[in-house]
Amino acid sequence: MIKDVMDTHTHTLASGHAYSTIRENAAAAARKGLELLAVTEHAPRMTGSCQAIYFQNLKVVDRHAYDVELMLGAELNILDEQGTVDLTENTLAQMDLAIASLHIPCIVPGSREYNTQACVNAVKNPRIHILGHPDDPRYPVDFRAIVQAAKEYGTLLELNENSLRPGGSRKNTRPQDEEMLKLCVEYQVPIVIGSDAHTDTDVGRHDLAHALLEELHFPEELIVNRSVDALKTVLENKRLQLK
Ligand SMILES: [Zn+2]
Ligand SMILES: [Zn+2]
Repeated sequence: MIKDVMDTHTHTLASGHAYSTIRENAAAAARKGLELLAVTEHAPRMTGSCQAIYFQNLKVVDRHAYDVELMLGAELNILDEQGTVDLTENTLAQMDLAIASLHIPCIVPGSREYNTQACVNAVKNPRIHILGHPDDPRYPVDFRAIVQAAKEYGTLLELNENSLRPGGSRKNTRPQDEEMLKLCVEYQVPIVIGSDAHTDTDVGRHDLAHALLEELHFPEELIVNRSVDALKTVLENKRLQLK
């Protein structure tokens, strides 16, 4: 069994199309025995999500609930080939954890080269810790280039449970996930599993991701979810890249 003590990708009511609160998500994480929960609301360019001021005021929220450590941050939208995202540098500096992802309402899929550059430039950003669901077939990418950039810049690549679920918004992601995971083994690049929960009942749900990793005999030492320290080391190494 894969050791997994965290969920690094969850949404609450604030995201506009999710249905639980921070405390409901934290209680669910506690029930599942998680040590750490990241709350990563969609950034402002996602229709119906919260504005920048929401992220700027996260300092008022306790970082513990129900014996679970909380990290509060954002799932940023990658907006262009330069890897531009939709919160300012000042706001990003206040995030405990930042994911950056490609989303249909926020960036029109381009050529394989264009999509790859958008991802690689996000991966290079010292304020971005995780590249979210790079497996979306609507955005074909060069996984070798992304995995190499992830290695060089110490950014985590996400294996997203929602992507693997039948009926999820991203279809047929498995071939891309397999390709990415095999390259992660080749280059020794760590990954992180995130549920992408939009309800408290989905917090910590990583079953399909675990099954895929087990099937591929993916090495446990490359799965950051095994320990909070492993995640914190990644975050610290990214911090050291800030100029
Ligand atoms: Zn969402
Ligand atoms: Zn997303």
